[in-house]
Parts: sequence; C-alpha cells; structure tokens
Amino acid sequence: MEKTKFSIFKSKITDIVQLTENVKHFRISVQNDFSFIPGQYISIIMDNPDRKIKLRRPYSIVSTNKEAKKGYIELCIKILEKGNITPLLDKLKVGDEIECLGPLGEFKISEESKNKNIIFISTGVGIAPFMSMIPEILGKTNKKVTLITGYKSEKDVLYNKEIKNFEEKYNNFSNYTILSESQGRVQSLIESKFDKNADYYICGLKDMISSVNLLLLKKNILGKNIYLEKYD
Ligand SMILES: Cc1cc2nc3c(=O)[nH]c(=O)nc-3n(C[C@H](O)[C@H](O)[C@H](O)COP(=O)(O)OP(=O)(O)OC[C@H]3O[C@@H](n4cnc5c(N)ncnc54)[C@H](O)[C@@H]3O)c2cc1C
Repeated sequence: MEKTKFSIFKSKITDIVQLTENVKHFRISVQNDFSFIPGQYISIIMDNPDRKIKLRRPYSIVSTNKEAKKGYIELCIKILEKGNITPLLDKLKVGDEIECLGPLGEFKISEESKNKNIIFISTGVGIAPFMSMIPEILGKTNKKVTLITGYKSEKDVLYNKEIKNFEEKYNNFSNYTILSESQGRVQSLIESKFDKNADYYICGLKDMISSVNLLLLKKNILGKNIYLEKYD
C-alpha cells in the first residue's frame, strides 16, 4: 500500500490564473521532496481576522508529481462570496506566503481499479482530483478511462485545453461534458455511458454524490466499486 508523509509547511504563491468568473487556479511552492498520491489534497491554514482560531480547509491537488518534483503543486479553488476562507484566498497575490498541511486523504485510484475500466464523474470544481488521477492512470493502463463532467453553463467549464490534450494523446480516454442550464444533469450521461464492469470515482457536492451513488447502486454496481470524495 502506497503511503505518503504529511507535514505542516510554508508555501509561496507563484502564479494565479482566473479560470472562470469564480474559480481560480493557484500554483504554490513545495519542497523538492514533496510527493503525493494523485487524488490527495492539502489543507490551507489561514488566520481568521474576526476570531482567534485559525481556519483550515482542504483543497485537492490538480497537478501531478512531475510538477511537484519541479517544486510546485497546483490547486483549483471556487471563491464563495459568503465563505469563510475563500474570500481570503481570493485576496492572495503572487509572492504571498500561506501555511499548508499535507498531503492527506484516501481518495486515490485503488489497486483493483488499475486493471479495470474507470469512469470519473464530477460537477464544478469536483474535477480537481481527477486532473491529477487521469494522467497518472492513462500512463499505466490500456483499459477505458472515461470522464463525465457537469457544469452550469459553457463559461463554467474547467480545464478544457488540458482534457483535449489527454484525448489527443490517449485513444482509451473519452470525455463527456453536460451543461445543467441547457442540457441536463450528469445522471443522464451516466445512463448513456453506463459500463457494468467499470469502477466509478465521484467528486463534488454531497447532493450530486448521493444521487449518483444511488443511481449506480440501483444499476447493481457494488458499493466497493464506487469511490467518493465529498466537498461539503
Ligand atoms: C477533501 C476535500 C477536498 C476539497 N477540494 C476542493 C477543491 O479542490 N476546490 C474547492 O474549491 N473546494 C474544495 N473543497 C471544499 C473546501 O475545502 C471548502 O469547503 C470551500 O472552499 C469553502 O470554504 P469557505 O471557508 O470559503 O466556505 P465555508 O464558510 O466553509 O462554507 C460555505 C458553504 O459552502 C459550501 N461549499 C463548499 N464547497 C462548495 C462549492 N464548491 N460550491 C458551493 N458550496 C460549497 C460549504 O459546505 C458551506 O455550506 C474540498 C473539500 C474537501 C472535504
């Protein structure tokens, strides 16, 4: 079983890209010996201006160990107007220092899944861990790898260019996106792309996760073949 060592560390923001109206992509520095299992997250720890207690929130690592070896990892963060920590993260500038804890988390591609077809399902920023898991698994398997993503509208779609690159590079990879405002929900794509022999990985908010999980169980996918990461 792969294990990683976690620690508290200081990190510098080295790049920030505004991906959509409310989602930012952060590049932050790590020590050269930082390594993680794709799917894991780091927690950001921030001082709370209003109270004495510090705030701590987990964020999935979007990049791979190739980038970590170069001294950085990347995060994809949705800024919530009424949130506690994300309005503070929104104010960060390149060069600012933050405190982090990690890598942590058990959401990773299981040994059993590595010999099976895999379907990854996300809505919104739930795509984050898959941007790290997909390149890792595509380098190692000939089985089918499918990504199903849901967003509100075209302008909310994340990492289009990177996903197109995966499609061009690997012919066992397919990507399907559905827009809730005009086309429907990820559940309908799951119906049309259903594979009874696949393992399923789902990431996003709890309502979507519960509904997709139930749908898969009703279709006789065993619970042990469904892996979940809830963001709320
Ligand atoms: C393992 C794990 C990994 C995570 N990875 C990411 C990530 O890669 N990117 C990311 O943006 N968030 C991620 N989250 C969510 C993140 O940790 C925070 O919960 C989120 O940023 C809100 O923090 P806040 O302090 O601004 O809001 P809070 O003050 O904590 O809460 C605001 C409310 O918004 C809800 N909420 C949380 N996330 C969302 C969302 N995406 N859309 C709408 N409502 C939401 C919360 O449950 C809460 O009800 C992850 C959560 C977990 C548990």
